[in-house]
Amino acid sequence: MKKAIYVGSFDPFTYGHLNILKRAVSLFDEIIIAIGTNPSKQSLFRADEKYDIILKIIQQEDLNNVKVIQYEDELTAHLVERLGVQYLIRGLRSTKDFEYEMDMAAVNRALNSSLESIFLMSDSRYRSLSSSVVKEIAKFNGDISSFVPEIVAQAMKKKYS
Ligand code: ADP
Repeated sequence: MKKAIYVGSFDPFTYGHLNILKRAVSLFDEIIIAIGTNPSKQSLFRADEKYDIILKIIQQEDLNNVKVIQYEDELTAHLVERLGVQYLIRGLRSTKDFEYEMDMAAVNRALNSSLESIFLMSDSRYRSLSSSVVKEIAKFNGDISSFVPEIVAQAMKKKYS
């Protein structure tokens, strides 16, 4: 059984994340979305809020072979070992992502030699889309409906009201 993990901050989960997820679904038997905290980024949503939102999105999208978990204070290389996962999915939007991801993949492989990082290129529609951009727009009351699922847009509205 081919199991993959899709790790990220998902703060919030955007159509860019969803696009990568939907494309990865056809490549693996099971995908685990692992919500982590990126210490270099300040989080808008708590991990439990992100969990509830992502769970609802995968139900709405009928993605039956996708699970969601939260993790904290654990290296990705150790997390995948604990879960018995062989593949790590990441999305690439730009050469900036590429530089960062190449280093991360090398570190993860040094820590866990059986882990294979798989990179999916961002769909051109979502190449400029990031959670940070969405937060910036929402903060100033802009329309984020083309960037995030409805449930995320509603949750963002509450955060900034
Ligand atoms: P992290 O803080 O771990 O980078 P993110 O939630 O920002 O968490 O991103 C998780 C993964 O999703 C990363 O691999 C990132 O490159 C990818 N990703 C984020 N937004 C997009 C997008 N618009 N298109 C493709 N991949 C994306």
